[in-house]
Amino acid sequence: MLNIVLFGPPGSGKGTQSVKLADKFSLVHISTGDIFRHELKNETPLGLEAKKFIDQGMLVPDEVVIGMLGAKMDEQLENNPKGFIFDGFPRTIAQAEALDKLMDLKDMSITGVLALEVGEEELIQRILNRGKTSGRSDDTNVDTIKKRIEVYHNETSPVAGYYDKQGKLHPIEGEGDIDQIFDKLSQAIESLA
Ligand code: AMP
Repeated sequence: MLNIVLFGPPGSGKGTQSVKLADKFSLVHISTGDIFRHELKNETPLGLEAKKFIDQGMLVPDEVVIGMLGAKMDEQLENNPKGFIFDGFPRTIAQAEALDKLMDLKDMSITGVLALEVGEEELIQRILNRGKTSGRSDDTNVDTIKKRIEVYHNETSPVAGYYDKQGKLHPIEGEGDIDQIFDKLSQAIESLA
């Protein structure tokens, strides 16, 4: 199996690139943010619980995210996928450890982690632009956006070090043309496969 984590700060292009990569490499795309937004749209207890954190630019608690991710993977594994691309997960060291354990239990492993690198000014501009059409309330408020970036620095960026220690981290320049970034990501995946 080919199991990829697409890593990076909010607004770095993970969502856009994951969809294209999932299509090119026939991978199942799992975006925890998309799952929460779907649950919220359907007003499920999980969606309403997550909303409290999402609206403040904070992370949904680990146990909630990990349980949801495990269930989603089990559901998808029934179709014998070629692999997964994780987008927006793991976002904490505890989530990365839980993912390794989940994978171990299933005789699977993370093949590689591609980390998109984008400067902070560019991130804020991209998220504000996306907010014009995304319908996401967390994309329109500058304070919420800054909070999400701060949470990324404090809680999520250490996850890069976790994978670096395993020799799995591949930094990718994430500024510039979408298709050029896609080509760089595709080449990195091809070198792993
Ligand atoms: P995203 O679409 O990945 O930007 O996620 C939107 C929001 O959903 C985040 O700001 C968090 O509040 C929540 N979220 C998504 N994925 C996770 C995760 N892996 N851990 C905790 N919270 C998450």
